[in-house]
Amino acid sequence: MTDFGRTTLPYCSFVTEGAPHVGVGIGTQVLDLTRAASAIVPEHAELFADGSLDALMAAGPDVWHAVREALLAHQPASLLDDVELVLPFTVADYVDFYASEHHATNVGRIFRPGGDALTPNWKHLPIGYHGRAGTVVVSGTSIVRPSGQRRSPDGEITFGPSIKLDIEAELGFVVGVPSALATPVPIDQFAQHVFGVCLVNDWSARDIQAWEYVPLGPFLGKSFATSISPWIIPLAALEGARVEQPAQSPEPLPYLQGSEPWGFDLDFVVSINGTEVSRPPFASMYWTGAQMLAHMTVNGASLRTGDLFASGTISGAGVAERGSLLELSWNGTEPITLADGSTRSFLEDGDTVTISAVAHLARGEMLELGEVCGTIVGHP
Ligand code: MN
Repeated sequence: MTDFGRTTLPYCSFVTEGAPHVGVGIGTQVLDLTRAASAIVPEHAELFADGSLDALMAAGPDVWHAVREALLAHQPASLLDDVELVLPFTVADYVDFYASEHHATNVGRIFRPGGDALTPNWKHLPIGYHGRAGTVVVSGTSIVRPSGQRRSPDGEITFGPSIKLDIEAELGFVVGVPSALATPVPIDQFAQHVFGVCLVNDWSARDIQAWEYVPLGPFLGKSFATSISPWIIPLAALEGARVEQPAQSPEPLPYLQGSEPWGFDLDFVVSINGTEVSRPPFASMYWTGAQMLAHMTVNGASLRTGDLFASGTISGAGVAERGSLLELSWNGTEPITLADGSTRSFLEDGDTVTISAVAHLARGEMLELGEVCGTIVGHP
């Protein structure tokens, strides 16, 4: 298990004796908060009774901070070593953004050669689409290769297993506090609503996606599965990793201008079958989570506890900083080589993808954020 140290205090849900319990990561071990809450935070013990994070997430920042302070002061007597981690909260709605300028530029160059890499709207709003909440799965869940319609280079329409199965390394934001319908959430209310973050692998079937996405965006090429890390890192743990986002030009509209920096200095690592293939830097993201939250509610759409919104593929400027195989192999024209000598343009059956991340704190410390992994299983 990841070593979370003593101050990150990430939350999980794990199964013990057939029932889910809320856990807190301390070092490489787990504190059973469902069992220990009546001693550590008696006034909030009921929040952990059902074994998911849902009630804690809905309780809001004052309670989040009170529980965190109590955990920081607590001297744990008994910790668990090996636990079976499950999906830690009930995923309400799932939205995926497209917030990396380097990723969007690479994709534009691959799919629209000769045209403008970025679409005219890209620097005016964080582009996103609504994904499928019901197929968000916890790290370790096998990913069955999806089938669908594809168009071959000669224009033939066929049906079958995807031959361009890909990854997208992303950061996910988990909403705790809901909002009212027809009431936009101002950008500076980000920390009043967002409980924490997780790591996301937005599995993508590029051949299915390429044929279906015009004019309404991704559909079956994405909706078969999205993996998240089992550990939710509280926003408070990342306070020291906050940085200014890259300069934005043109200046965004007022509702997208916040008074606080909400970039994060996080480094991701993507590995396939144990070979590191990329190190995407989250600090290079053009749009912040706060801007995404403001944008996705500016029309009056309400938030629910458990809403998950992800950053979109994280890609930096460098070739080895690209967060998808589409970019790393330049749509299959430049396959990458793994440690065993085999090459990959896209994923093969049996491949295991692991995405991990660390946060760099201003005082020079590093925090582990855990990992999200999944293994590709051939279509039955
Ligand atoms: Mn994505």
